Amino acid sequence: MGLTRLLSRPQKREEELEPQREVEPEPEQPPEPEQPRTARVLAFANQKGGVAKTTSTLNLAAALKEEGLNVLIVDMDPQGNLTMSQGLNPDAIERSMFDVLVHRLPIEHVIQDAEVDLAVSSIDLAGAELALSSMIGRERALEKALLPVKENYDYILIDTPPSLGLLTINALVAADGVIVPVQCEYLSLRGLVQLENTMQMIRENLNPNVQIVGILPTMFDRRTLHAREAVEILEENFGDLVFKTRIKKTIRYAEAPVKGSSVLKYDPSGSAAEAYRHLAKEVLNGSQARQHA
Ligand code: ADP
Ligand code: MG
Repeated sequence: MGLTRLLSRPQKREEELEPQREVEPEPEQPPEPEQPRTARVLAFANQKGGVAKTTSTLNLAAALKEEGLNVLIVDMDPQGNLTMSQGLNPDAIERSMFDVLVHRLPIEHVIQDAEVDLAVSSIDLAGAELALSSMIGRERALEKALLPVKENYDYILIDTPPSLGLLTINALVAADGVIVPVQCEYLSLRGLVQLENTMQMIRENLNPNVQIVGILPTMFDRRTLHAREAVEILEENFGDLVFKTRIKKTIRYAEAPVKGSSVLKYDPSGSAAEAYRHLAKEVLNGSQARQHA
């Protein structure tokens, strides 16, 4: 029997085995335990700053939570904007993702019970790249840290810093998929090639499965020709990989974090909240179709 056939055969519980299977004996398989839940891990990445990575991490998480899902968000940016946007002060945090990545502190110890469960960052995290750089398995520290909590969540969303350094690489190695927020400007689109090259390198060396789940046009201002053209260029180059959701430019996204909340909590019936609910539906329903694009 070929390996492919073995791998593709769905395993059955012993009591479900049909009698004719005894005629053609197969290697014994232990009874399959209840299928444990395992989170889908999505990283938000774009080496450009100010494209709405952090805003999208929090608000997509809040929208997925509204759908009844268990969600963890992980702040991998030493600037700690995601941590701040939940009303926490990264300067006052004692143990953070730094300790998780560098000292292998179990991640449960840095998960705060905020609007969405949040593994916090602190300024220490800025030293993590250097501390990790001499460690064996330096690219897999986050992947390892997430393993024990994957069964507690449906989704784990990772916010990354504006660089393609070791913290972002850790996120790309731990992730099943990547969401790339891009500002609707021509210059923002050029950086995507570099991100794609990095992802190709990750696929070849560290995580063969990581794919772009979708490119998310953010800060979209329909009134400007430039923004409309930027989205057209995106669609010409990336086709179905571009989410249908457009995140429009509005001050609501800057106001909500000041109150320590997502826009879904800050202004639940507004169009800013609605946009991320729409994105959540796309992420839940549409990713299959996009994967082979
Ligand atoms: P990044 O994490 O990529 O650096 P942020 O999510 O921090 O980007 O967003 C950068 C700034 O833009 C923040 O002040 C944020 O409040 C604001 N912002 C995010 N999304 C929008 C939007 N759709 N319209 C207007 N401002 C936005
Ligand atoms: Mg950010």
